[in-house]
Amino acid sequence: MDTQIITNPSDQELDMLACALRNGELVSIPTETVYGLGANGLDPEAMDKIYIAKGRPSDNPLILHVPNSESIKPLVTEVSNTAQLLMDTFWPGPLTITLPKSDLVPDRATGGLPRVALRCPDHELCRALLERAGVPIAAPSANISGRPSPTTAQDVYHDMKDRISYILDAGSCTIGVESTVVEVHDDKVIILRPGGITKAQLEDVVSTVEYDTALVNATTKPKAPGMKYKHYAPKADMKLVRGNESDVSKYLKGQIKNSDRLTAVLTVDEHKDMFDTASSEKSNIKVLSLGSSKNPESIAYNLFDILRKCDELGVEYIFSESFDERGIGKAIMNRLKKAAGFEIIDV
Ligand code: AMP
Ligand code: MG
Repeated sequence: MDTQIITNPSDQELDMLACALRNGELVSIPTETVYGLGANGLDPEAMDKIYIAKGRPSDNPLILHVPNSESIKPLVTEVSNTAQLLMDTFWPGPLTITLPKSDLVPDRATGGLPRVALRCPDHELCRALLERAGVPIAAPSANISGRPSPTTAQDVYHDMKDRISYILDAGSCTIGVESTVVEVHDDKVIILRPGGITKAQLEDVVSTVEYDTALVNATTKPKAPGMKYKHYAPKADMKLVRGNESDVSKYLKGQIKNSDRLTAVLTVDEHKDMFDTASSEKSNIKVLSLGSSKNPESIAYNLFDILRKCDELGVEYIFSESFDERGIGKAIMNRLKKAAGFEIIDV
């Protein structure tokens, strides 16, 4: 199957993509978080193709994407006041809400779970396509399972070439990490996966917001099945370095001095010059900035792109700085820890 990239789609092309989705073909769709691998969320055979194209474990459920909160009505059996409040406040946006599913939603979408995950993306072109499709679109990130998520159409093409029919190219995703996934119980919200909407943002509208215990204690079984799998990993052997700023710098400079393999140091704009100087005589060291420590959103935006770049450069070892886990930092550190297979060096 040839994979066609469509940029600046005409109305006819959008209709053609909507029709392809309704008819069970795979179309990669842009969103504000990462690129999704879309399929008709009411068609189990279409969703089977997602699992095959990605090599995704079959018990990892999919998020159904809708153009507005009205569209969820046939897909769920109840919407609590808190769930409605979350939708009214954060949709369209990077918040996924799991709700009790109706019979219309195939078990294939939920991995057999009684709840379905729903999201309305804050991306006009994506919503225009969802509107035209007229069915919910199941869309996990459009990467081969386990690899860093794609934030450009070119990333999708790299992983999905000849596996899917179309990629709708709308440039770089503006957020760069996936949505926050929550479960709602009466007036309590449980965060199953940290993401684009922070705990503090949720606390502004709901009195009780907690992390799923699996996000606090690594030995507990996560409620979002996908959270248990190795994820986001570059090909290199990656480690996170954690500690106070001067100890981390000292450790990384030591690695730069002693390494004779192709090694990447992932740092921030504020520290890049220092590591560039430390590595000026070593061609095997690549110093890459994830963004500015003063602007954690920039780190979220660049994260997957930099991990993919390490693969392109053929890097064998990666040492990354760690970040404050407040705000969007929670999602950044969740992705970095998983990318590093939880290998953390405390200095
Ligand atoms: P992705 O496919 O990368 O967008 O990830 C979707 C995330 O949402 C995974 O971690 C899934 O396990 C989680 N998820 C999807 N549906 C449900 C559900 N019904 N209950 C709990 N977690 C879910
Ligand atoms: Mg994913």
